[in-house]
Formats: sequence, structure tokens, C-alpha cells
Amino acid sequence: MDTLNKQLELDRLKIKIVIDGICADLAEDATNLVFGSGDVDADICFIGEAPGKNEDLLGLPFVGASGKFLDKMLETINLSRNQIYITNIVKYRPPNNRDPLPEEKDVFLPILDKQLEIINPKLIVTLGRHSMNCFFPNLIISNVHGKLQELKGRFFLPLFHPAAAMYNGSLKKILISDFQQIPSILKTI
Ligand code: URA
Repeated sequence: MDTLNKQLELDRLKIKIVIDGICADLAEDATNLVFGSGDVDADICFIGEAPGKNEDLLGLPFVGASGKFLDKMLETINLSRNQIYITNIVKYRPPNNRDPLPEEKDVFLPILDKQLEIINPKLIVTLGRHSMNCFFPNLIISNVHGKLQELKGRFFLPLFHPAAAMYNGSLKKILISDFQQIPSILKTI
């Protein structure tokens, strides 16, 4: 699919969330739908959990503290935000930043699947256990972080969530080191 058609399909998908009233309860309290941002032709797609306060206000994913940390890690592998695509499983902010509920993740999963089908990245990087468990319900993040996984012809790299790692010295080191593998993984897949 060419870039323009990808963008059109993604716009359609975004509208479908509103028309179908997906997670209407969350939508009622949210300022914005946070659909995703970045290059629709990117090789890498990052998937977080759900928007927080800053993301909800701006309608963009990862624009708060964990987003800034993510940007710094991207810089270390010579990538910027406009060279990747980034989204979340759940597209509305859960109240008071609580964890997304299983039913909220379930209803957004077909949307995320379609989003990935349209973008068709070479590598999907899941950030945190919620994101990883959507695709691999039986995996444990502390066992498989930084280890490439394959599912239905797609490649996944599970990483710790930047928000969890940011203020935890040992997790931070692990996340930064896992991140450094991205360029070589991209070359081998
Ligand atoms: N954490 C997430 O998982 N997603 C965001 O967009 C921001 C913080």
C-alpha cells in the first residue's frame, strides 16, 4: 500500500473508533482520542499501554516524561520520532492513569491489529507487559525482554515500559541495553 492510501486507511480506522463507540465510557472523560503518530511507512512500530494526562491533552502518544525518555533512547540509536510509528493498545486515557482493564484492551485489539496491518512494520516493539501480553498472553516480561519473538509472520521485541524503567536504576540499564539491539535486529529480520 502506498503512503497516501495508508494514511487514508488509518484515518478511516480512527473515525471507526468514534462511530462504533468503542470504549464510550473512556471517551466521555477523555479530552482527545490518541490514535498514533509518526511515519506510516516506518520499519518500527512502538506500542505502549494507554495515553496519560499529557497525551490526552495533546491527542498524541508518549509526549510526557516517559515519551521524553523514549526520545533520548531513540537518539542513541540514531532515530527520531518522525522515523518511527508509535501508538498504544487503548486509545483513550483511563481515568487517573489506572491500568487499562482487560475488556478495554480486548475491544481495542482488533483496531491495533488493523493499524499494524496497514503500517506493516518490520519490527513491533512492545513497551511494558500490557502491550506484550496482548500478543503473547503467556510470556513474562522479566524473562523475555530484549528477546526477539515471532508470531504469525510478524517480529516483536518486548521491552520494559519507559515509565517503569525511568526511576529504577537497574531496569533503566536493562531497557537502555535492550534498546541498543534494535538496529542489529532490524538488519537480520
Ligand atoms: N504511557 C503509555 O503507555 N503510553 C503513552 O502514550 C504515554 C505513557
